[in-house]
Amino acid sequence: MNTYLLSFADSVDSIEKAIFVLFGVPFDSTSSYRKGSKFAPNAIRDASYNFEAWMFEHQLDLSEVCLYDAGDLYELGSVEEMLSETKKTVREILDIGAFPIMLGGEHSVSPAAISQFKDIGVLHIDAHLDFRDEYMGCKNSHACASRRASDFVGIKNIVPMGMRSISKEEIEDVKKKGLRFIDAYKIHEIGIEIAVDQALKYMKNNKRIYLTLDIDGIDPAYAPGTGTPEPFGLTPFDIKKLIAKVADRLVGFDLVEVSPPYDNGNTSALAARIVKEVIAQVYKKNKNIGKK
Ligand code: MN
Ligand code: MN
Repeated sequence: MNTYLLSFADSVDSIEKAIFVLFGVPFDSTSSYRKGSKFAPNAIRDASYNFEAWMFEHQLDLSEVCLYDAGDLYELGSVEEMLSETKKTVREILDIGAFPIMLGGEHSVSPAAISQFKDIGVLHIDAHLDFRDEYMGCKNSHACASRRASDFVGIKNIVPMGMRSISKEEIEDVKKKGLRFIDAYKIHEIGIEIAVDQALKYMKNNKRIYLTLDIDGIDPAYAPGTGTPEPFGLTPFDIKKLIAKVADRLVGFDLVEVSPPYDNGNTSALAARIVKEVIAQVYKKNKNIGKK
């Protein structure tokens, strides 16, 4: 782990006290269109200093919530090596009873994190379905993220939300495998809160939820700094409401696909603010957090 980095705002200096442990995975080798997400963990840390520690709408001072920033994984050559390091790190965080927050990197690393939990449901927010069984010869491509996650949790325990881009082959596989997803158009029509209720109803394991947020699920007007931008996305407020709805049952979180070379600063700022939102909401609502 590379810890010679700027730490996320309001973090503590000792892992012993940690309720939340954040780490970065600087990896973007399978990215198909625009790379750059390996620079995201540091850009998001940097942006985290933009905000007050006091979150007035939650009546909570984040400097009193024990967050430990473990630094970044070392950049390793192959996707397999990155995945195995990611698994190991999440395992260690869960073993000390803390809540893992992972900053990508690209979406290929999320299934590795997800694989370390038992009896969970996964909410996968994304512009893309990521349900290809392989992409350009790689089964662990970021274009296969929901598919690989479903290998671990089961097809009935993952619900992708926010899609605007799905290939014809993926739709055929959706029918074959019985995947349920809620696209962005449906969410705009029924509202995010009803959509989350539906997603939880679809899942068998809906008492313990892992949230994986591909930043391109949010509209590029708000989050332009990403590898594969798609119009007609969700709003930051949709994400805030979604977090509020599932915070009482959240067990882990990752935020992936921010690409600083394509950013004007707003995407990293939004990402940092969403991390803070998750910490505040989970701290206030999840009664199991911090019980070691
Ligand atoms: Mn994705
Ligand atoms: Mn995506």
